[in-house]
Amino acid sequence: MFATVLECLRCGAQYAMDPRAYVCPRCGADDGDPGILDVHYDYGAARSRTFSSRGVFRYAPLLPAREVHEILPAGDTPLVEAPRLASELGIGRLFLKDETRNPTRCLKDRATTVGMALAIESGAQDVYCASAGNAAISLAGFAANCGMRCHVFVPNRVSAARLDWLRRFGADVRISAGNYDSAFEEAEREGRAKGWYSRNCAFNPFLVEGKKTCALEIAEEIEPDFVIAPVGDGCTLGAIGKGFREARELGLIERLPRLVGVQAEGVRPLVDRFCGTRSAEGETAAASIAVRRPRNAIRLFREIEASDGRMIAVSDDRIAAAQRKLAEEAGVIAEFTSAATLAALETVEEARGKAVVLLITGGRVD
Ligand SMILES: *Cc1c(COP(=O)(O)O)cnc(C)c1O
Ligand SMILES: [Zn+2]
Repeated sequence: MFATVLECLRCGAQYAMDPRAYVCPRCGADDGDPGILDVHYDYGAARSRTFSSRGVFRYAPLLPAREVHEILPAGDTPLVEAPRLASELGIGRLFLKDETRNPTRCLKDRATTVGMALAIESGAQDVYCASAGNAAISLAGFAANCGMRCHVFVPNRVSAARLDWLRRFGADVRISAGNYDSAFEEAEREGRAKGWYSRNCAFNPFLVEGKKTCALEIAEEIEPDFVIAPVGDGCTLGAIGKGFREARELGLIERLPRLVGVQAEGVRPLVDRFCGTRSAEGETAAASIAVRRPRNAIRLFREIEASDGRMIAVSDDRIAAAQRKLAEEAGVIAEFTSAATLAALETVEEARGKAVVLLITGGRVD
C-alpha cells in the first residue's frame, strides 16, 4: 500500500493512515463544512508498479486498501461514443462514460468497493449509510455478496422501485420521516453509537478513492477537454478531479479536463455558492442530487478551480428532454439525475468542437 497520510481538507492537519479514520477530530462535522480527510500517496513508489488486476482494483497502488478483495466486480465501464448527439450539438467528440454497467447499475459501486475492502480489513460485521437510493442499493448488494449486515437510512420519498432493490438484497431498511439530510443525521447518530462501519461518502475519507478510478479509466483511453457530472454532496466530481490530477502525475494525460458540475434548478446550493448567488429552495425529480446541505464542497471547489471548471443549474424540463435524447439518439438509458449532464452540455458554448465526456452515473429508472 502506498497511502501515506490523511490530510484534513479544511484545516490541513495530517494524521497517520488508519482504515477506521473518519472526519478530522479537530474540525468535526457539526458546523459548516465538515473536516473531510484526503488520502495522500507516495506517487514515486506507486508509479513503478504496473497496474494489474481488473476493475477498481486495477488501480490498487493508488487505493487505501491493503489488498485486492474478491467482491462484486465494479469498474471497467465503457466509453460509449455518441456521434449523433455530437453533431447535433456541434461537439468534436462526445463520449458517455457508462457507469450504468456497474453491478448495481451505478458509479456508487466504485466507492462501495473501497468501503467494503476497508470494512473487511478493519473486521467490521455491520455496515451502514444514508442515501437517496443508489449508495444504499450499492452497499446492500456488496454486503449481500460479502455476508455483512447492512443498515440503510433512506428519505421518506424514496421510490418504490429503489425500496424493492434494497429489500431484494436483504438490507435492514430505515425510512426517515424527513428528507435525505434527516436520513443522514439519523444514520450518523445510530451508526456511530453502534460502531458500525460507515459508507457515508462525504465523511468516510476512503470512498472518493474508489470513485476516482472512473477518471483514471477515462484518462487511459482519451484526453478529454471537458468532463460533466451531476453534483449532490460533491464527492463524485471532487473524486473525478483528484483522479485526473493523479493521471497527470502518472503521465497518462498532459492536461486536466475542465470539470463542469451540474445541479437541478430546484436544489442548487453548490451552484449558488460557486456563483455567489442565492436562490429560493425548490424541488426536483433528480433524486440522486437533491442534497440541500452538501458536505464535500471544499473538495469539489478545489478540483473545479484546479481545472478551470464551473457549476451549472438546469431545469427539470430540460433534464427530462435530455433523458429521452440519450435513449433515442445514443442508445443509453440514464437515470433522470444523470441526464442532467446532457442538459448542461447544451448550454456550454466553450465545448463546441471539443472532446467531451458525460458521466452517466446511474441507470436505474424510477
Ligand atoms: C450520488 C450520485 C450523484 C452525485 O454524487 P455526489 O457525490 O453526491 O455529488 C450523481 N449521480 C448519481 C446517479 C448518484 O447516485
Ligand atoms: Zn480539520
